[in-house]
Amino acid sequence: MRTLFGPFTQIITMSNLPLNGPISEKDLEIIYDGGIIVEKELIIEIGKFSLLTNQCDEVFEITSPHVLLPGFIDCHTHVCFAGSRANEYSKKNEGISYQQILSEGGGIYDTMEKTALSSYDELKELTENRLNRHFSEGVLTCEVKSGYGKDFENEIRMLQIINDIDTSNPYDLVSTCLAAHVPPKNADISSEKYLSSIINDLLPLIKKDKLSNRVDIFIEKDAFNVKEAKAFLKLANEKGFDTLVHGNQFTNGGLNVAVDSNSISVDHLEVINETEIKYLSKSKTSAVVLPGCSIGIGLPFAPARKILDHGCCLAIATDWNPGSAPMGDLLTQASIIAASEKLTNAEVFSAISFRAANALGLKDRGVIEKNKIADFIGFNISDYKEILYNQGKIKPSFICKRGKVYNN
Ligand SMILES: [Zn+2]
Repeated sequence: MRTLFGPFTQIITMSNLPLNGPISEKDLEIIYDGGIIVEKELIIEIGKFSLLTNQCDEVFEITSPHVLLPGFIDCHTHVCFAGSRANEYSKKNEGISYQQILSEGGGIYDTMEKTALSSYDELKELTENRLNRHFSEGVLTCEVKSGYGKDFENEIRMLQIINDIDTSNPYDLVSTCLAAHVPPKNADISSEKYLSSIINDLLPLIKKDKLSNRVDIFIEKDAFNVKEAKAFLKLANEKGFDTLVHGNQFTNGGLNVAVDSNSISVDHLEVINETEIKYLSKSKTSAVVLPGCSIGIGLPFAPARKILDHGCCLAIATDWNPGSAPMGDLLTQASIIAASEKLTNAEVFSAISFRAANALGLKDRGVIEKNKIADFIGFNISDYKEILYNQGKIKPSFICKRGKVYNN
Protein backbone atom coordinates (compact mmCIF):
# COMPACT_ATOMS: atom_id res chain seq x y z
CA MET A 1 0.00 0.00 0.00
CA ARG A 2 1.44 3.33 -1.10
CA THR A 3 0.15 6.19 1.03
CA LEU A 4 0.56 9.80 0.01
CA PHE A 5 0.84 12.24 2.92
CA GLY A 6 0.13 15.90 2.31
CA PRO A 7 -0.18 18.56 1.16
CA PHE A 8 2.35 20.15 3.49
CA THR A 9 2.91 23.91 3.31
CA GLN A 10 6.69 23.37 3.55
CA ILE A 11 8.73 20.20 3.68
CA ILE A 12 12.18 20.89 5.09
CA THR A 13 13.94 17.79 3.79
CA MET A 14 17.39 18.33 5.40
CA SER A 15 18.67 16.63 2.26
CA ASN A 16 22.01 17.33 0.53
CA LEU A 17 23.52 19.15 3.49
CA PRO A 18 27.10 18.63 4.70
CA LEU A 19 27.86 16.40 7.66
CA ASN A 20 30.45 18.85 8.98
CA GLY A 21 30.78 22.58 9.50
CA PRO A 22 28.48 25.60 9.13
CA ILE A 23 25.28 25.52 7.08
CA SER A 24 23.71 28.69 5.78
CA GLU A 25 19.99 29.25 5.69
CA LYS A 26 19.83 29.33 1.90
CA ASP A 27 21.14 25.77 1.67
CA LEU A 28 17.94 24.36 3.18
CA GLU A 29 15.89 22.47 0.63
CA ILE A 30 12.23 23.48 0.95
CA ILE A 31 9.45 21.78 -0.99
CA TYR A 32 6.34 23.98 -1.04
CA ASP A 33 2.91 22.28 -1.12
CA GLY A 34 4.79 19.02 -0.85
CA GLY A 35 3.81 15.42 -0.49
CA ILE A 36 5.53 12.20 0.59
CA ILE A 37 4.67 8.69 -0.53
CA VAL A 38 5.31 6.01 2.06
CA GLU A 39 5.28 2.26 1.55
CA LYS A 40 5.51 0.15 4.70
CA GLU A 41 8.17 1.90 6.77
CA LEU A 42 9.99 3.73 4.02
CA ILE A 43 9.73 6.95 2.07
CA ILE A 44 9.50 5.98 -1.60
CA GLU A 45 8.74 9.34 -3.24
CA ILE A 46 8.79 12.99 -2.36
CA GLY A 47 7.85 16.09 -4.35
CA LYS A 48 4.99 18.45 -5.19
CA PHE A 49 1.77 16.99 -3.77
CA SER A 50 -0.21 17.60 -6.96
CA LEU A 51 2.32 15.62 -9.03
CA LEU A 52 2.20 12.60 -6.72
CA THR A 53 -1.55 11.96 -6.46
CA ASN A 54 -1.59 9.48 -9.36
CA GLN A 55 1.32 7.42 -7.98
CA CYS A 56 -0.34 6.28 -4.74
CA ASP A 57 -3.06 3.90 -3.54
CA GLU A 58 -4.47 6.18 -0.86
CA VAL A 59 -4.10 9.74 0.44
CA PHE A 60 -3.63 10.80 4.03
CA GLU A 61 -4.84 14.34 3.67
CA ILE A 62 -3.43 17.17 5.76
CA THR A 63 -6.17 19.81 5.99
CA SER A 64 -4.39 22.68 7.80
CA PRO A 65 -1.06 24.44 7.17
CA HIS A 66 1.88 22.28 8.23
CA VAL A 67 5.66 22.52 8.15
CA LEU A 68 7.30 19.12 8.01
CA LEU A 69 10.72 18.15 9.38
CA PRO A 70 12.51 14.82 9.87
CA GLY A 71 11.68 13.26 13.25
CA PHE A 72 13.99 14.62 15.93
CA ILE A 73 16.81 12.50 17.32
CA ASP A 74 18.07 12.95 20.89
CA CYS A 75 21.51 11.29 20.87
CA HIS A 76 22.37 11.65 24.59
CA THR A 77 20.04 10.96 27.54
CA HIS A 78 19.99 9.30 30.95
CA VAL A 79 16.20 8.91 31.24
CA CYS A 80 16.29 5.50 32.92
CA PHE A 81 16.31 6.53 36.58
CA ALA A 82 14.17 6.69 39.71
CA GLY A 83 13.83 9.48 42.24
CA SER A 84 13.95 13.24 42.13
CA ARG A 85 16.91 15.48 42.93
CA ALA A 86 14.84 18.61 43.48
CA ASN A 87 16.41 19.07 46.91
CA GLU A 88 19.88 19.00 45.45
CA TYR A 89 18.86 21.39 42.65
CA SER A 90 17.63 23.79 45.26
CA LYS A 91 20.89 23.44 47.23
CA LYS A 92 22.92 24.16 44.10
CA ASN A 93 20.88 27.30 43.59
CA GLU A 94 21.86 28.28 47.14
CA GLY A 95 25.45 28.17 45.93
CA ILE A 96 26.70 24.70 46.84
CA SER A 97 28.74 23.18 43.98
CA TYR A 98 27.92 19.95 42.16
CA GLN A 99 31.36 18.57 42.98
CA GLN A 100 30.80 19.22 46.66
CA ILE A 101 27.42 17.46 46.60
CA LEU A 102 29.05 14.57 44.73
CA SER A 103 31.95 14.28 47.17
CA GLU A 104 29.46 14.19 50.07
CA GLY A 105 27.87 11.11 48.54
CA GLY A 106 24.87 12.93 47.07
CA GLY A 107 24.28 13.61 43.42
CA ILE A 108 24.57 10.57 41.25
CA TYR A 109 24.94 8.16 44.21
CA ASP A 110 21.50 9.22 45.42
CA THR A 111 20.02 8.35 42.01
CA MET A 112 21.84 4.99 42.08
CA GLU A 113 20.26 4.17 45.46
CA LYS A 114 16.75 5.10 44.35
CA THR A 115 17.14 3.32 41.02
CA ALA A 116 18.24 0.14 42.79
CA LEU A 117 15.27 0.35 45.18
CA SER A 118 12.70 0.57 42.39
CA SER A 119 11.23 -2.64 40.95
CA TYR A 120 11.74 -3.58 37.30
CA ASP A 121 8.18 -2.50 36.48
CA GLU A 122 8.43 0.76 38.39
CA LEU A 123 11.68 1.73 36.71
CA LYS A 124 10.27 0.71 33.33
CA GLU A 125 7.17 2.86 33.84
CA LEU A 126 9.16 5.91 34.94
CA THR A 127 11.45 5.61 31.93
CA GLU A 128 8.63 4.92 29.52
CA ASN A 129 6.68 7.97 30.71
CA ARG A 130 9.64 10.21 29.93
CA LEU A 131 10.16 8.65 26.51
CA ASN A 132 6.44 8.89 25.70
CA ARG A 133 6.58 12.61 26.43
CA HIS A 134 9.70 12.90 24.28
CA PHE A 135 7.90 11.11 21.43
CA SER A 136 4.91 13.46 21.66
CA GLU A 137 7.39 16.34 21.39
CA GLY A 138 8.83 14.95 18.18
CA VAL A 139 11.76 12.82 19.37
CA LEU A 140 11.28 9.66 17.33
CA THR A 141 14.73 8.16 18.00
CA CYS A 142 16.43 8.43 21.36
CA GLU A 143 19.63 7.25 22.94
CA VAL A 144 19.40 6.06 26.56
CA LYS A 145 22.37 5.24 28.77
CA SER A 146 22.70 2.95 31.74
CA GLY A 147 25.03 4.28 34.41
CA TYR A 148 22.86 4.46 37.52
CA GLY A 149 23.43 0.82 38.42
CA LYS A 150 25.13 0.50 41.79
CA ASP A 151 26.50 -2.84 40.64
CA PHE A 152 26.66 -4.84 37.41
CA GLU A 153 23.33 -6.53 38.12
CA ASN A 154 21.64 -3.15 38.22
CA GLU A 155 23.48 -1.99 35.12
CA ILE A 156 22.20 -5.02 33.22
CA ARG A 157 18.69 -4.45 34.54
CA MET A 158 18.74 -0.88 33.20
CA LEU A 159 19.85 -2.07 29.76
CA GLN A 160 17.16 -4.77 29.78
CA ILE A 161 14.52 -2.16 30.59
CA ILE A 162 15.73 0.13 27.78
CA ASN A 163 15.57 -2.77 25.30
CA ASP A 164 12.19 -3.84 26.64
CA ILE A 165 10.75 -0.34 26.13
CA ASP A 166 12.27 -0.16 22.65
CA THR A 167 10.47 -3.37 21.66
CA SER A 168 7.06 -2.34 22.98
CA ASN A 169 6.85 1.26 21.72
CA PRO A 170 6.74 3.02 18.35
CA TYR A 171 9.93 5.03 18.93
CA ASP A 172 13.44 3.62 18.43
CA LEU A 173 15.92 3.53 21.27
CA VAL A 174 19.69 3.18 21.14
CA SER A 175 21.11 1.81 24.39
CA THR A 176 24.55 2.65 25.74
CA CYS A 177 26.49 1.04 28.57
CA LEU A 178 27.74 3.74 30.93
CA ALA A 179 28.91 1.52 33.77
CA ALA A 180 31.99 3.79 33.73
CA HIS A 181 29.95 6.75 34.96
CA VAL A 182 31.61 7.21 38.37
CA PRO A 183 33.76 4.85 40.45
CA PRO A 184 31.61 2.71 42.78
CA LYS A 185 30.81 4.42 46.08
CA ASN A 186 32.97 3.37 49.06
CA ALA A 187 34.43 0.64 46.89
CA ASP A 188 37.49 -1.17 48.08
CA ILE A 189 38.60 -1.59 44.48
CA SER A 190 40.58 0.99 42.54
CA SER A 191 39.15 2.77 39.50
CA GLU A 192 41.53 0.79 37.33
CA LYS A 193 40.31 -2.54 38.71
CA TYR A 194 36.70 -1.43 38.38
CA LEU A 195 37.19 -0.54 34.71
CA SER A 196 38.92 -3.81 33.92
CA SER A 197 36.06 -5.62 35.60
CA ILE A 198 33.62 -3.83 33.27
CA ILE A 199 35.70 -5.09 30.34
CA ASN A 200 36.13 -8.64 31.57
CA ASP A 201 32.92 -9.34 33.48
CA LEU A 202 30.18 -6.96 32.31
CA LEU A 203 30.75 -6.42 28.58
CA PRO A 204 30.69 -10.14 27.70
CA LEU A 205 27.25 -10.43 29.32
CA ILE A 206 25.99 -7.36 27.47
CA LYS A 207 27.31 -8.73 24.21
CA LYS A 208 25.84 -12.19 24.79
CA ASP A 209 22.32 -10.79 25.33
CA LYS A 210 22.74 -8.04 22.69
CA LEU A 211 21.83 -5.38 25.26
CA SER A 212 24.05 -2.69 23.72
CA ASN A 213 26.90 -2.17 21.28
CA ARG A 214 28.04 1.14 22.71
CA VAL A 215 30.31 1.92 25.66
CA ASP A 216 30.59 5.35 27.26
CA ILE A 217 32.94 6.70 29.95
CA PHE A 218 32.89 9.90 32.00
CA ILE A 219 36.33 11.53 32.02
CA GLU A 220 36.41 14.11 34.81
CA LYS A 221 37.99 14.93 38.14
CA ASP A 222 35.45 12.98 40.21
CA ALA A 223 35.02 10.23 37.65
CA PHE A 224 37.81 8.61 35.58
CA ASN A 225 41.13 10.06 34.45
CA VAL A 226 42.60 10.32 30.97
CA LYS A 227 45.07 7.48 31.39
CA GLU A 228 42.64 4.88 32.68
CA ALA A 229 39.99 5.97 30.16
CA LYS A 230 42.41 5.48 27.25
CA ALA A 231 43.18 1.92 28.25
CA PHE A 232 39.50 1.20 28.89
CA LEU A 233 38.30 2.49 25.51
CA LYS A 234 40.98 0.55 23.67
CA LEU A 235 39.81 -2.69 25.27
CA ALA A 236 36.12 -1.86 24.69
CA ASN A 237 36.96 -1.26 21.01
CA GLU A 238 38.76 -4.58 20.83
CA LYS A 239 35.63 -6.27 22.19
CA GLY A 240 33.72 -4.81 19.21
CA PHE A 241 31.89 -1.96 20.91
CA ASP A 242 31.48 1.56 19.56
CA THR A 243 32.84 3.97 22.12
CA LEU A 244 31.97 7.46 23.23
CA VAL A 245 33.09 9.88 25.89
CA HIS A 246 31.59 12.32 28.37
CA GLY A 247 34.41 14.83 28.30
CA ASN A 248 35.53 18.44 28.68
CA GLN A 249 32.65 19.32 30.98
CA PHE A 250 34.69 20.92 33.77
CA THR A 251 38.26 20.13 32.69
CA ASN A 252 40.14 19.56 29.43
CA GLY A 253 41.52 16.25 28.25
CA GLY A 254 38.57 13.98 27.48
CA LEU A 255 38.32 15.17 23.88
CA ASN A 256 41.80 13.97 22.96
CA VAL A 257 41.09 10.58 24.47
CA ALA A 258 37.87 10.34 22.42
CA VAL A 259 39.61 11.25 19.15
CA ASP A 260 42.60 8.97 19.82
CA SER A 261 40.20 6.10 20.57
CA ASN A 262 38.22 6.68 17.34
CA SER A 263 35.15 7.30 19.46
CA ILE A 264 31.91 7.97 17.64
CA SER A 265 31.23 11.09 19.72
CA VAL A 266 32.55 13.28 22.49
CA ASP A 267 29.79 14.86 24.52
CA HIS A 268 29.65 18.03 26.70
CA LEU A 269 32.60 20.23 25.54
CA GLU A 270 31.70 23.20 27.75
CA VAL A 271 35.40 23.58 28.57
CA ILE A 272 37.33 23.35 25.31
CA ASN A 273 40.28 25.24 23.81
CA GLU A 274 41.19 26.11 20.24
CA THR A 275 43.78 23.33 19.91
CA GLU A 276 41.22 20.77 21.00
CA ILE A 277 38.58 22.04 18.57
CA LYS A 278 41.12 21.80 15.72
CA TYR A 279 42.07 18.29 16.79
CA LEU A 280 38.40 17.29 16.80
CA SER A 281 37.78 18.83 13.38
CA LYS A 282 40.40 16.52 11.83
CA SER A 283 38.67 13.42 13.19
CA LYS A 284 35.48 11.45 12.50
CA THR A 285 34.33 11.96 16.09
CA SER A 286 31.08 13.95 16.43
CA ALA A 287 30.73 16.83 18.88
CA VAL A 288 27.59 16.59 21.01
CA VAL A 289 26.65 19.68 23.01
CA LEU A 290 24.18 19.57 25.87
CA PRO A 291 22.50 22.93 26.50
CA GLY A 292 20.05 21.44 29.02
CA CYS A 293 22.97 20.64 31.29
CA SER A 294 24.33 24.19 31.08
CA ILE A 295 20.85 25.51 31.87
CA GLY A 296 20.50 23.07 34.77
CA ILE A 297 23.77 23.97 36.45
CA GLY A 298 23.93 27.60 35.37
CA LEU A 299 27.16 27.47 33.39
CA PRO A 300 27.99 28.77 29.89
CA PHE A 301 27.04 26.70 26.86
CA ALA A 302 29.62 24.76 24.90
CA PRO A 303 30.96 27.04 22.11
CA ALA A 304 28.82 25.47 19.40
CA ARG A 305 29.47 28.31 16.91
CA LYS A 306 33.22 27.89 17.16
CA ILE A 307 32.97 24.12 16.97
CA LEU A 308 30.99 24.40 13.71
CA ASP A 309 33.22 27.10 12.27
CA HIS A 310 36.20 24.79 12.67
CA GLY A 311 34.41 22.18 10.58
CA CYS A 312 33.21 19.66 13.16
CA CYS A 313 30.00 17.62 13.03
CA LEU A 314 27.78 19.11 15.72
CA ALA A 315 24.78 17.47 17.37
CA ILE A 316 22.60 18.92 20.12
CA ALA A 317 21.11 16.60 22.76
CA THR A 318 19.24 17.00 26.05
CA ASP A 319 21.43 14.99 28.47
CA TRP A 320 18.06 14.46 30.23
CA ASN A 321 19.03 13.29 33.72
CA PRO A 322 17.82 13.85 37.28
CA GLY A 323 20.81 15.86 38.45
CA SER A 324 22.03 18.46 35.98
CA ALA A 325 19.46 18.37 33.18
CA PRO A 326 15.96 17.65 34.49
CA MET A 327 14.00 19.51 31.76
CA GLY A 328 14.52 17.14 28.85
CA ASP A 329 12.92 19.38 26.22
CA LEU A 330 15.08 19.06 23.10
CA LEU A 331 13.43 21.72 20.97
CA THR A 332 13.38 24.33 23.74
CA GLN A 333 17.03 23.73 24.56
CA ALA A 334 18.08 23.78 20.90
CA SER A 335 16.22 27.09 20.44
CA ILE A 336 17.94 28.64 23.44
CA ILE A 337 21.47 27.63 22.47
CA ALA A 338 20.72 28.84 18.92
CA ALA A 339 20.04 32.39 20.12
CA SER A 340 23.02 32.38 22.45
CA GLU A 341 25.55 30.81 20.06
CA LYS A 342 24.15 32.29 16.83
CA LEU A 343 23.27 29.06 15.08
CA THR A 344 21.17 29.12 11.91
CA ASN A 345 17.88 27.23 11.69
CA ALA A 346 19.68 24.90 9.28
CA GLU A 347 22.44 24.16 11.79
CA VAL A 348 20.02 23.57 14.65
CA PHE A 349 17.72 21.26 12.69
CA SER A 350 20.79 19.37 11.41
CA ALA A 351 22.03 18.99 14.97
CA ILE A 352 18.82 17.25 16.05
CA SER A 353 18.29 15.24 12.86
CA PHE A 354 20.93 13.76 10.51
CA ARG A 355 23.95 14.95 12.47
CA ALA A 356 22.49 13.42 15.65
CA ALA A 357 21.88 10.25 13.64
CA ASN A 358 25.56 10.28 12.66
CA ALA A 359 26.54 10.47 16.33
CA LEU A 360 24.52 7.28 16.82
CA GLY A 361 25.94 5.56 13.72
CA LEU A 362 22.49 5.54 12.05
CA LYS A 363 22.39 6.13 8.30
CA ASP A 364 18.73 5.35 7.66
CA ARG A 365 17.11 8.46 9.17
CA GLY A 366 17.43 12.15 9.94
CA VAL A 367 16.54 13.34 6.42
CA ILE A 368 13.33 13.24 4.39
CA GLU A 369 14.63 11.35 1.39
CA LYS A 370 13.75 8.36 -0.74
CA ASN A 371 14.57 5.00 0.91
CA LYS A 372 14.93 6.48 4.39
CA ILE A 373 12.69 5.45 7.28
CA ALA A 374 9.39 7.38 7.16
CA ASP A 375 10.00 9.37 10.34
CA PHE A 376 8.66 12.91 10.14
CA ILE A 377 6.91 15.49 12.28
CA GLY A 378 4.60 18.34 11.31
CA PHE A 379 4.09 21.70 12.99
CA ASN A 380 0.82 23.57 12.54
CA ILE A 381 2.41 26.72 11.09
CA SER A 382 3.19 28.07 7.61
CA ASP A 383 6.85 29.06 7.97
CA TYR A 384 9.60 26.89 9.45
CA LYS A 385 11.23 29.94 11.06
CA GLU A 386 8.35 30.02 13.56
CA ILE A 387 9.69 26.84 15.17
CA LEU A 388 12.86 28.17 16.81
CA TYR A 389 11.32 31.63 17.16
CA ASN A 390 8.72 30.15 19.49
CA GLN A 391 11.52 28.59 21.55
CA GLY A 392 9.96 25.21 21.99
CA LYS A 393 6.42 26.35 22.79
CA ILE A 394 5.06 25.03 19.49
CA LYS A 395 5.07 21.24 19.60
CA PRO A 396 4.46 18.94 16.64
CA SER A 397 0.79 18.30 15.91
CA PHE A 398 1.47 15.50 13.41
CA ILE A 399 3.81 12.59 14.00
CA CYS A 400 4.62 9.83 11.53
CA LYS A 401 6.92 7.09 12.84
CA ARG A 402 7.98 4.34 10.43
CA GLY A 403 5.02 5.22 8.22
CA LYS A 404 2.40 5.11 10.99
CA VAL A 405 0.60 8.25 12.12
CA TYR A 406 0.35 9.16 15.80
CA ASN A 407 -1.80 12.21 16.28
CA ASN A 408 -0.94 14.55 19.10
ZN1 LIG B 1 25.36 12.75 30.05
